[in-house]
Amino acid sequence: AERPYIVGNWKMHGTRAMLAEARAIDRAAERLIKVEVALAPPFTLIHATRKEATLIGVGAQDCHPADGGAHTGDVSAAMLKDAGAGFVILGHSERRADHGEKDADVRAKADSAIAAGLNVIACVGETEEQRDAGKAESVVAKQLKGSLPEGEGVAAKVTVAYEPVWAIGTGRTPTVEDVGAMHCSIRKVLNEFYGEEAGATIRILYGGSVKPDNAAELLAADEVGGALVGGASLTADSFLGIVVAA
Ligand code: 13P
Repeated sequence: AERPYIVGNWKMHGTRAMLAEARAIDRAAERLIKVEVALAPPFTLIHATRKEATLIGVGAQDCHPADGGAHTGDVSAAMLKDAGAGFVILGHSERRADHGEKDADVRAKADSAIAAGLNVIACVGETEEQRDAGKAESVVAKQLKGSLPEGEGVAAKVTVAYEPVWAIGTGRTPTVEDVGAMHCSIRKVLNEFYGEEAGATIRILYGGSVKPDNAAELLAADEVGGALVGGASLTADSFLGIVVAA
């Protein structure tokens, strides 16, 4: 199998004081060559993180779908690329909830990101209510079909992150069986969407309360190719605990 891909999503955390954590993560990554490591700091730290860290991937947490223009407060994919980003997380449930992002918005952003030369981590996941209603897999399949970028050669630029909304920041996680079942269901959708050959190569990350002490178990579930880590990515100590477990 491929190297596990462990991505830290710093969300709206981090001032320049946190660059020391990025540096420590980068230094350790030199020894941990069996794992692919990346950080997505807030916009304000992307350039500085890229300069501090020479080995790990650096990315962003959102972009605007347009190339530029009168969009006060927004940042384009080309700007992210220019700042040193190699990828962008799109469609995170917090963006969907806080900013009303719909699947079509996520797709437009993904198209723009890929055109700018960025890779995309597309996030999907069901709410607790949807899971309780037995709709988790159908909800996620619909999100994927509506959010993923389409086109020849695009699959190579895409990573999917499955993040059940109810597991984010709660300390609760699905069972290993549930994670495996969902990831297998996602794999099927990817194979249909991109064709078997391309679909099979896409990494599917699990996200939601991943910690050093549950990482090994979650990462061993079927079709899990890595983790998207929130809270536990904020210190080098806990994030590296996950990287080592991967
Ligand atoms: P936590 O790891 O804090 O639960 O966050 C997960 C997440 O949303 C990563 O994108």
